[in-house]
Amino acid sequence: MGSFVDEILNDVKAKNPAEPEFHQAVEEVVESLEIVLDRRPELRSYKVLERMIEPERVLMFRVPWVDDSGAVQVNRGFRIEMNSAIGPYKGGLRFHPSVNLGILKFLAFEQVFKNSLTTLPMGGGKGGSDFDPKGKSDNEVMRFCQSFMSELHRHIGPNTDVPAGDIGVGGREIGYLFGQYKRLRNEFTGVLTGKGLDWGGSLIRPEATGYGSVYFAAEMAGTRDDTLEGKICLVSGSGNVAQFTSEKILDLGGKVVTMSDSGGYIYDDEGIDRDKLAFVMDLKNNRRGRISEYVDKYPGAVYTATDRDSDHNPLWAHKADCAFPSATQNEINGKDAANLLAGGVWLVSEGANMPTNLEGVEQFIDAGILYGPGKAANAGGVATSGLEMSQNSMRLNWSREEVDAKLHGIMKSIHSACVETADQFGTPGNYVNGANIAGFLKVADAMIDQGVV
Ligand code: NDP
Repeated sequence: MGSFVDEILNDVKAKNPAEPEFHQAVEEVVESLEIVLDRRPELRSYKVLERMIEPERVLMFRVPWVDDSGAVQVNRGFRIEMNSAIGPYKGGLRFHPSVNLGILKFLAFEQVFKNSLTTLPMGGGKGGSDFDPKGKSDNEVMRFCQSFMSELHRHIGPNTDVPAGDIGVGGREIGYLFGQYKRLRNEFTGVLTGKGLDWGGSLIRPEATGYGSVYFAAEMAGTRDDTLEGKICLVSGSGNVAQFTSEKILDLGGKVVTMSDSGGYIYDDEGIDRDKLAFVMDLKNNRRGRISEYVDKYPGAVYTATDRDSDHNPLWAHKADCAFPSATQNEINGKDAANLLAGGVWLVSEGANMPTNLEGVEQFIDAGILYGPGKAANAGGVATSGLEMSQNSMRLNWSREEVDAKLHGIMKSIHSACVETADQFGTPGNYVNGANIAGFLKVADAMIDQGVV
């Protein structure tokens, strides 16, 4: 069987050169699936895995726009429609200068498993652009979004493909994208999620990924008869996921001591309390400032600028109980993972997608800590997007309490599915295997039912 896995990985690398993040995401999943393919040989003859690795469709397009000085700018837009076996393609749009085909394919691939785990009928997709919203005026962001949607609208729809936000795409961008879709198609429909509350959005959608990641962490802690009460928590990022992860940690009695952005991180020994978190939210969401400004306001905290030449991130070297990586992919490498373990961390819940590299994941699993991979731990965001789609279809709005209760229930069931599946396949406590196998089997069975398409 080892050679079958090697064959698949060699093939993926040959066919998709220069896409290291995609290779990494496939490798992590394929390693978990060896045991499933052993037990269910028909999955091999149907070439289910080979089909899942190949996107159903990849769209790549030019996004020209005019900046405030009148100069023409050109960006590249993408949408990866990865798998629609269990529902319309669903997954976020990322606007960040690092965006390329390989990163979006890794995200789309992960999304297929994650969406399957949510128990909701959603296929997997992802998209975005190398456009950088940082430092752009609202008008520039609007013109970019309008140009992006002028092409994307042909390919999406409430029953086909329903994008959402991700890095660099929040409420402002979803608004401009939705406005242009509506104008071009002359229809008001739930084609995007993460919409404003007055025009089809769901309560709790902004909070969902962060809240969900902490609900998942609480479930993991519960397997060891523990809670987050009084626990010291390292959080990275200061965007949507990091903010609401921190808020829910506070709700459950934990103490958050770090937050970051791409420029550096702050360490606040006294803890980031509700007032300080409100400052961060205003800084990031309204004033669009840098996390370094935190120490101007709270001089007791320490700011450390990012050192691009360093082989590790010092944020992960502080003593703590729990870690919530919530910024971006590969932000925890092997050395960071070793530092986390040495600092006493016994629980990691990934708000970001694939924030830990393969070496780091191996260390967490070998150490036997509670390690919740992103495709399970951060699935609350897309799950609540699924709830937004249901509300749009029924043309009604659920209350905050109703949506939060459904989110909480979904996170509990994802946690149980991971635990039970890991047990069934002989790797108890291994949430990576649990998530990959449970997510895979539902999509694989649907693909077999639907024939070779
Ligand atoms: P935001 O754009 O709101 O925030 C991203 C945060 O991460 C910012 O603090 C940003 O800093 C930091 N960051 C981004 N890129 C880098 C980088 N290359 N190096 C260091 N820091 C970086 O995005 P989200 O909070 O929505 O997304 C964060 C993560 O969560 C991503 O991995 C995303 O895929 C994942 N996720 C998000 C979901 C959602 O519902 N939004 C759902 C599931 C997963 P700066 O401002 O300096 O760029």
